[in-house]
Amino acid sequence: MLTRYQADLHVHTLLSPCGEVEMIPSLIVAAAQMAGLDMIAIADHNSCENARAVVGAADGTGVKVFCGMEVQSVEGVHVLCLFDTPDQSEALQEAVYSALPTRPGYEKFFDQQMVVDSNDEFVRYCDRLLALPTSLDIDDIHERATALEGLVLPSHIDRSSTGICDVLGMLPENPDFDAVEVSANITPEQARGCIPSIRGRAIFRSSDAHWLSAIGTPRTVFELAHRSIEEIRLACRGEDGRRVVDA
Ligand SMILES: [Zn+2]
Ligand SMILES: [Zn+2]
Repeated sequence: MLTRYQADLHVHTLLSPCGEVEMIPSLIVAAAQMAGLDMIAIADHNSCENARAVVGAADGTGVKVFCGMEVQSVEGVHVLCLFDTPDQSEALQEAVYSALPTRPGYEKFFDQQMVVDSNDEFVRYCDRLLALPTSLDIDDIHERATALEGLVLPSHIDRSSTGICDVLGMLPENPDFDAVEVSANITPEQARGCIPSIRGRAIFRSSDAHWLSAIGTPRTVFELAHRSIEEIRLACRGEDGRRVVDA
């Protein structure tokens, strides 16, 4: 039996340099509940250090939390990598951290990157340069995240600057992304019209929320047997009745 699930698969926390300080685990989960969401994904820039805390905060609430990150490739493209468990995303984080530049003198940015626990308590500042591109190229990110059984899709492909189409001039045929994400500024129909290289790929719409009121606007509706990355992958391919109902 298949169920419809409302999803926002791109939410930042206060760990992201551009994330508002209100983006703490309990308030993110409460905002997801108020928005009627069944599942969210935590995807901070080049880090997943707060994902486990949001999973903990959601325990018993009925909101399913996927763990991931929005990796910035060496080309400057934002790539969403989503996983079922914190262990998987933390394995990717190891590779991402060793691919981030270390530049003494940038410490002034660190005080904006807060790691918290599932009770919203401050743990420490993250001293990585999360706002910068990694040295991993798009293929490398796709390969590493796929090897960890993650779902990989380019973020907000209609946006300038860090959207793959603007950076590369097109959506490449390879790597074979599971889906693509478009921003709130465009409908999937409009996206297919102006970006023909999307072809038959599934389109997600997510909030890319950096503040609470954005969570769930827009969202993607899936029809799945249960809430897992593998089920979402089946929906992207339209297999076994699983599907993306609306975005
Ligand atoms: Zn982005
Ligand atoms: Zn984002």
